[in-house]
Amino acid sequence: MRVECSKCERAIQLAQPYPYAAGMSDVSFAYHETLPAVLVIPRRDERWTELTGGCFAHDASAAQLKRVEDALMPYHMGGHFRFDAKPRCPLCNAEFEQTPWPAGFYVCFGEMIDSTTHSVWEFEHDEP
Ligand SMILES: [Zn+2]
Repeated sequence: MRVECSKCERAIQLAQPYPYAAGMSDVSFAYHETLPAVLVIPRRDERWTELTGGCFAHDASAAQLKRVEDALMPYHMGGHFRFDAKPRCPLCNAEFEQTPWPAGFYVCFGEMIDSTTHSVWEFEHDEP
């Protein structure tokens, strides 16, 4: 799919064919606070279950989401993923104030990190 950045007005070509619906794929997502990257946490992730009681992303309370944010390691390029962060243009890094897709859908600009295949959690619960 293609998206045009409202800031630099360049067309961004994305590998994904359409915005993904978090509810359909049963994941939560959080964009990076300053970089074009998105973290995707499938509901089956044990840490998500532990931190939120295994609820659906849209049912998670602000306190639960904060707990999840606090349990995450810093991104490998620095900074953090925040559930209230907006997606960023991979060409000029401008925030998308408004996205052409509805809330609850996400698009991968830059890097997409899946919490079940990348090491994202600050500590594992089976450590002493
Ligand atoms: Zn841009």
